[in-house]
Amino acid sequence: MAELGDLYQQVIIDHAKHPRNLRAIADPTRSAVGDNPLCGDRITVYLRLEGNVIADVSFEGSGCAISRASGSLMTSAVRGKTTAEAEELFRAFHAMLTGTAGEAATPAPLGKLAAFAGVRQFPARVKCANLSWHTLRAALTLSAESVSTE
Ligand code: ZN
Repeated sequence: MAELGDLYQQVIIDHAKHPRNLRAIADPTRSAVGDNPLCGDRITVYLRLEGNVIADVSFEGSGCAISRASGSLMTSAVRGKTTAEAEELFRAFHAMLTGTAGEAATPAPLGKLAAFAGVRQFPARVKCANLSWHTLRAALTLSAESVSTE
């Protein structure tokens, strides 16, 4: 576990220990299940849409600290956003984790989500951090009722 010390920045520790929005929504507009078999993370994302706006979003699941912190920070980040804005965040977050965006371009719009930047150095953990976002996207697009990082 020693190598993970670098990952656990304060904001990630906080959200892993005290996840925000960790609950079900009784009457979600949409929901999706995500699975990361490599680590054993499973997550369900619930959405309540009002028009194009994400009026409420929550998650349930079991998994490692990174996946839990990601679910907490993802739901906090996209609540009140439009679906297009959520898609923008997904792209920026994914680019940061995979290193496909310019270094300078990523941190600004991501806010607290930038705490996950260090995860890029640990490819196996990238899937833990991405899982909630892929699941959100599945719920938004209804392209799949369940997603897997494999
Ligand atoms: Zn994990």
